[in-house]
Amino acid sequence: MSTIRFNALKETLHRKAVEIKEQGRRSEMFGANVFNKHAMRQFMTNEAFVSVQSAIVDGVKIERKIADQVAAGMKDWALSKGATHYTHWFQPLTGATAEKHDAFFETIEDGRAMEKFDGGQLVQQEPDASSFPNGGIRNTFEARGYTAWDPTSPAFIYGTTLCIPTVFVAYTGEALDNKAPLLKALQAVDTAATAICKYFDKNVSKVNASLGWEQEYFLIDTALAASRPDITLTGRTLLGHSPAKGQQLDDHYFGSIPSRVMSYMRDLEHECMLLGIPVKTRHNEVAPNQYELAPIFEEANLAVDHNSLLMDVMEKVSQRHHFKVLFHEKPFAGINGSGKHNNWSLATDTGVNLLSPGKTPMKNLQFLTFFVNTIKAVHDHEELLRSSIASAGNDHRLGANEAPPAIISVFIGSQLSAVLDELEHVTKGKLSPQEKTDLKLNVVGKIPDVLLDNTDRNRTSPFAFTGNKFELRAVGSWANCAGPMTVLNTIVAKQLKEFKKEVDALIASKGLKKDEAVFNVLREYIKASKKIRFEGNGYGSAWEKEAAKRGLSNHKTTPEALKAKISKKSIELFEEMEVMSKVEVEARHEIELEEYILRIQIEGRVLGDVARNHVIPTAVKYQNTLIENVSGLKNIFGNDFKKHAKEQIDLIEKISLHIAEINSKVEKMTQERKRANKLEGQKSADMYCHKVRPYFDEIRYHCDKLEMMVDDELWPLAKYRELLFTR
Ligand code: ADP
Ligand code: MG
Repeated sequence: MSTIRFNALKETLHRKAVEIKEQGRRSEMFGANVFNKHAMRQFMTNEAFVSVQSAIVDGVKIERKIADQVAAGMKDWALSKGATHYTHWFQPLTGATAEKHDAFFETIEDGRAMEKFDGGQLVQQEPDASSFPNGGIRNTFEARGYTAWDPTSPAFIYGTTLCIPTVFVAYTGEALDNKAPLLKALQAVDTAATAICKYFDKNVSKVNASLGWEQEYFLIDTALAASRPDITLTGRTLLGHSPAKGQQLDDHYFGSIPSRVMSYMRDLEHECMLLGIPVKTRHNEVAPNQYELAPIFEEANLAVDHNSLLMDVMEKVSQRHHFKVLFHEKPFAGINGSGKHNNWSLATDTGVNLLSPGKTPMKNLQFLTFFVNTIKAVHDHEELLRSSIASAGNDHRLGANEAPPAIISVFIGSQLSAVLDELEHVTKGKLSPQEKTDLKLNVVGKIPDVLLDNTDRNRTSPFAFTGNKFELRAVGSWANCAGPMTVLNTIVAKQLKEFKKEVDALIASKGLKKDEAVFNVLREYIKASKKIRFEGNGYGSAWEKEAAKRGLSNHKTTPEALKAKISKKSIELFEEMEVMSKVEVEARHEIELEEYILRIQIEGRVLGDVARNHVIPTAVKYQNTLIENVSGLKNIFGNDFKKHAKEQIDLIEKISLHIAEINSKVEKMTQERKRANKLEGQKSADMYCHKVRPYFDEIRYHCDKLEMMVDDELWPLAKYRELLFTR
């Protein structure tokens, strides 16, 4: 066995679970490092406290004088917790998080020093941001970027640093991050949904979108991962023969958690508790060495921050346990990939989940309003929603028979399908004021307040209603939830706005009663959005054919899917809802295309290197052994040797063929890459997608064949069975 591989395996097999001591109950630890309401009360003046609360709830601006008071309180709290530094914590368009730490420490004139932090430092910072992607925004406007405090997501201490969640904006006003558009989308859906809630309950004054994500990931021992340049540089394996045993026995899902992994999880959960991330569920996933973690859902902006923070914390904690955490959507061929389900709903400040069926027909009419409008929104903007989950990694999942297909559809279950079908046929044409309300209430009253979601689950649907929320299942495990959440909330906001217009018009022009008008518009929506509803099996080709007939999009690759982002329709939508300007939308599109190009480019290079520097030399070494063997046999048996060396000669030949194929394919791929590099934007991405990427599988095929032929002792790269079954 190659030394690297041997040592890596030995190291892995000797690992012991790190002992984890949890201090006290989790409920007591929860939020200990968060500047939450409780800490604010303790450390801030009443005036500052009230001001921050109204900024959180009503978006009221915080005056500079008050900001100074908030900063003073935050500093005292942070110092009391042992923090030495502070940072504006933001989410640039790389999808990750960014931070630049500054010490509280400052020198003063008489040679001494003190801790300083004022409102100015709290509210706004100017990181040297020239190396963050900006999609041409800064070149066009020659603007610098600044970060600005987001009081709706509480500051927290991680390690010894006070982290202040912020938005990242160009001086000319364009958002350079993921958070700013999300906050605007949440504002838009709040405004639109609140207006509609008032039809049903005058007391509602705010609607919050909620998000409960479920994070899937793989854990691989660091030593084994380090033996693989592909895992190290791209987060996935670019080659590797499938192991004799994979996931076919289904013996990993919900199985007992291995002790090393368990101690990693407990350590991680401990950190999460301190940071106020309400993690609740942990379990083994379908694939070997694959796991999932899910929190209790939260307000969407906070949940997005918490997911970004979590991914960062997971990487840090995994290092303590000698694990490398893989967030890639498809780290291993032939083995399930990872996703991040986004459970989403809307809730009022009066405590009503708007996607939860009620006990009375009127409550159900409210439920149906939000339910049907969401379906209609997805129907009208399915391509945009698809574009929001597009990435090089997710291309491996969507449509690959394990994750939802690349076709967006909505699953609602048999009970609600029956309700919508019935509503659709209540009367032909629009109801007149004279028609009986009974008819409608009859149907509406039929929705049970607890839906049988568990038996009625369709795991193959990308957007499924699960009893009291929708679950967007097609999000990639590496993604920042802000992207899809911005789109989903924007399209629902737009839809609700249209709905209100139509209902009000019916009331005004036809003199319909409010609930009759609501009912009428909903019925038309049910008809109009029917083609997006699909209850069958989303995997397989039958649905692809059916979806094509229905005119639904099926964009299988990122360069194709991303086009919908910059369509006239999408730009108008974002501008109308005041979520993003044309420039901001186009900048994001450009950055995402560029990211796609870079990822495929890097994968291509790494694959070429590994194939030529690892696989071919190893195969040649083994072939030499065979040649030696054959010439030895010739010495012994003379002309008769072929009888004894048939298999060896056969192998020698095959190895030569595979080596030749690898060499010529790597060469051709490199040529295509060079051509693609001369192009820009869409053209370059298309070329990478259709000309470069197809070589990956071809090169891999021959490498994997060689893996099976070459003496296991010589093979330098940790094999699938080792990566997946050692822990
Ligand atoms: P699963 O989908 O794994 O079977 P559940 O349906 O119980 O699990 O819940 C999945 C996730 O949905 C949990 O993380 C939970 O916090 C979240 N969730 C539950 N209710 C809501 C809601 N109203 N809004 C957003 N997320 C929610
Ligand atoms: Mg789920």
